[in-house]
Amino acid sequence: TIKDDVSNRISYYDKELRETALKEQGIISQFHDALEGGQFCFYIQPQISADGVVRGGEALVRWIHPERGMIPPGEFIELFERTGLISELDRYIWEKACIQLRDWCRQGHADFYLSVNISPRDFYYMDIYKVFTQLVQKHGFEAKNLHLEITETAVMSDTKKVIRLVNKLRQYGFKVEMDDFGSGYSSLNMLKDIKMDTIKLDMGFLRKTRNNERSMSIVSNVIHLSKRLGMEVVTEGVETREQVDALTMMGCDVFQGYYFAKPMSVWDYEDKYISTEG
Ligand code: C2E
Ligand code: MG
Ligand code: MG
Ligand code: MG
Repeated sequence: TIKDDVSNRISYYDKELRETALKEQGIISQFHDALEGGQFCFYIQPQISADGVVRGGEALVRWIHPERGMIPPGEFIELFERTGLISELDRYIWEKACIQLRDWCRQGHADFYLSVNISPRDFYYMDIYKVFTQLVQKHGFEAKNLHLEITETAVMSDTKKVIRLVNKLRQYGFKVEMDDFGSGYSSLNMLKDIKMDTIKLDMGFLRKTRNNERSMSIVSNVIHLSKRLGMEVVTEGVETREQVDALTMMGCDVFQGYYFAKPMSVWDYEDKYISTEG
């Protein structure tokens, strides 16, 4: 009967909800052990400038789980954002990235940069300016080699506060980047209000749609606009030669995507892109 059917369906959803909750609870309960046990590390996805040179990349967290192996951020970032754990993880990853910058600096590679992600939640839970300036002072590297990626959600929640913060960070020498540009609702509005160094064009634009001509026209004009506003353009998610050619013609400055390289361990990255003597 319909009644049975409905109640079956409800218990099915119930069961699924319970399973999700349990699974999430499991992940949450493992977090601190994992953090202290060094299970989180970052991979680097190289960024290639239009002239073909690699001088840095984005630090992307990976959870190296003792039983499950490598867990991609897609499986835990959202949960950590919901529960606030993300801020602890971010601080940890930033510190690791800064130690890496310090090491490169000491090894004579002071021209390499790393880009780190800042979760919208971090703006509530910490004094971001203090955290990053202290990291620079503690580890000794050039602030310009640390690129800070922020998203629209962060800006939207408290625009005035974030504008002030971004200005201060840039004054100190950090490069500030708008991540996932174009994926949200008020990207253009944000360009009006807030000065940043770089926009990272969201890969959604590159996905093949039925109306490729339209999306290419948007991309081309966003690149043009960004340059008029004095910003560099990084395109994320570049997967084909055709995309690279088209984006080069449009004036994209930097590429990041599987076409060039997937995120890789620091070890692989150094091996491939940083020449070391001896
Ligand atoms: P994001 O910051 O926009 O990073 C780019 C994502 O796109 C990465 O996914 C990268 O592997 C992926 N990607 C790059 N090129 C291509 C491509 O050509 N094709 C496809 N299909 N994907 C490409 P990943 O590493 O899985 O990270 C996903 C998201 O998780 C990141 O998006 C970022 O929002 C978040 N995330 C990663 N690490 C951290 C972190 O340490 N802290 C915070 N707060 N968020 C992080
Ligand atoms: Mg990013
Ligand atoms: Mg992005
Ligand atoms: Mg993202």
